[in-house]
Amino acid sequence: MKKTNWRRSKEYKEAKAQAFKPYDMGNSRYKCAFCPKIDYEIPYGITVFHLCSVGSHPALKMEPLNLLPVCFKHHRYYDDHPIEKKEAIEKHFPNRIQGLLDLERSKLGFPA
Ligand SMILES: [Zn+2]
Repeated sequence: MKKTNWRRSKEYKEAKAQAFKPYDMGNSRYKCAFCPKIDYEIPYGITVFHLCSVGSHPALKMEPLNLLPVCFKHHRYYDDHPIEKKEAIEKHFPNRIQGLLDLERSKLGFPA
């Protein structure tokens, strides 16, 4: 089965650029959304983090509001700790998850 590489699509690149803009430190370097680390300070650099996971919420995978630049350490930690992930997102980005879930419902054609 051929897998569509949506991560290389123009739409995804544009969504990522939009989501990363507030964290742009210049010279193509970005800050982690959850800590003061900037990509050149850490191994593996900054990664693209999905607030609502791609596996559970495919309709939101290219939504700019669902993307954040996150350091490798935080990315791994929150992938392994879903409760802490939810708490951290709620603390740093209040109501963002609810807004995304509402958006997902409308994208899937459910009434608001
Ligand atoms: Zn971090």
